[in-house]
Amino acid sequence: MFGLRPIQETREHTPSFYAATANSQTAFPTLTDDTSADVVVVGGGFSGVNTALELAERGVDVALVEANRIGWGASGRNGGQVIGGIGHTPERFRRSIGDEGIKAIYAMGIEARDVIRERVERYAIQCDLKWGYCDVALKPRHMKAFAEWQAFEKAIGNPHPYTLLDRDELKAYVNSERYLGGLHNTANGHLHPLNLCMGEAQALATLGANVFEQSRVVAIERGETVVVRTEQGSIRAKTLVLAGNAYMGGLVPQLGKQVMPSASSVVATEPLPADLAAEILPADVAVCDPRTALDYFRLSADRRLLFGGLSNYTGMEPSNLEGVMRDKMCRVFPQLQSVNIDFAWSGWIGIGINRMPQLGQVRDNVYYIQAFSGHGVAPTHMMAKVTAEKIMGRSKRHDAMAKIPHWSFPGGALLGRPLLAIGMAYYKALDLL
Ligand SMILES: Cc1cc2nc3c(=O)[nH]c(=O)nc-3n(C[C@H](O)[C@H](O)[C@H](O)COP(=O)(O)OP(=O)(O)OC[C@H]3O[C@@H](n4cnc5c(N)ncnc54)[C@H](O)[C@@H]3O)c2cc1C
Repeated sequence: MFGLRPIQETREHTPSFYAATANSQTAFPTLTDDTSADVVVVGGGFSGVNTALELAERGVDVALVEANRIGWGASGRNGGQVIGGIGHTPERFRRSIGDEGIKAIYAMGIEARDVIRERVERYAIQCDLKWGYCDVALKPRHMKAFAEWQAFEKAIGNPHPYTLLDRDELKAYVNSERYLGGLHNTANGHLHPLNLCMGEAQALATLGANVFEQSRVVAIERGETVVVRTEQGSIRAKTLVLAGNAYMGGLVPQLGKQVMPSASSVVATEPLPADLAAEILPADVAVCDPRTALDYFRLSADRRLLFGGLSNYTGMEPSNLEGVMRDKMCRVFPQLQSVNIDFAWSGWIGIGINRMPQLGQVRDNVYYIQAFSGHGVAPTHMMAKVTAEKIMGRSKRHDAMAKIPHWSFPGGALLGRPLLAIGMAYYKALDLL
């Protein structure tokens, strides 16, 4: 067992491997006067930046306001794993979205990664993007599930092959005694998420959008025209997009009740000698296991092992974060016991009850995107694209997502956290079987 402490936050980036290796620092101005735009977007993570970018690419006059720095939230501190799929088992919502909706969600799950690929190419964003991924099995039933998954990807028309690997074959990708086998694909991959997010924001500014940092929205006036008020200024717009996710708090209470901030953590080792890096991850793939509280890891471009895990529904991190993560890492790669850990950090994931991204409209001219439940690097890009399509007047695929029912956590943050913790403890117990 370990004690917990609140995650230390300032208005600058949380110290992390990503903040230390950012290509450059963004320095967009603080909003200090009253201005206007056609569309104003709140939140400078992947969801907000990409909605704004999609709109700016279509010639819309758009402004973006971020409370802290671009990529300050989950988008600039995650594991950097680019994973396909949108949420979990959309078949649960057949009654609401029909077969067409389910089909559209699976197609978006494939397309999501291509949105990133295109962004990186079009704007020449230096973010160490690499393709290659292994899901790894800890139990025989995981291998059975992988075989079903492999068949499923083929059935939905994923053009990328998924290859089952037995224990020995897996070692060419993930050289650990911990796993029984795996499922490899080159559809998924990994990247430096903060550099991606900052690169996307730079592209947005280049297209003429106004981007504001250190400008927290503290009030919203709704009507035919919306006004977002920050501490020092305001933006009047025809349309508002809310993309503050787990960090938006009670700004819009009905959205806040649907998303529970949960902490996840990552450590980065010192750069590993080339032979040690090649020994543990010979094909430089990103890796994750299928548990509820999963381990996820990969090498950075400078050969550090970035190892992530934990999910804490109090929103806090272990007081001995480095020690807890080192234990997890060394269960996979015992040879890393004496390697230094240079960075350890945590951030908030936005969890929704049904584990499907939440998007839709609070009213005609107020859109929202949130709750990626720990799987958002690629899906945020896709949900941003369909939100922009909808704002431009058409998007059946946005409408399919928006028809999915979402629920508030019963009892709000006070009771919702313990209830979620109990629910997750149940799923974690199932992981042990
Ligand atoms: C430690 C960790 C590891 C993860 N690993 C992975 C992974 O490997 N792969 C994966 O697919 N997903 C991963 N995720 C999830 C993924 O990072 C998120 O789903 C995704 O980044 C969410 O993006 P977002 O833009 O919706 O939210 P965020 O990136 O959290 O952005 C929200 C932004 O809104 C701003 N904001 C909030 N309120 C206001 C306001 N009132 N005014 C102005 N601005 C405001 C915040 O400051 C913040 O910058 C991980 C998350 C964490 C925390």
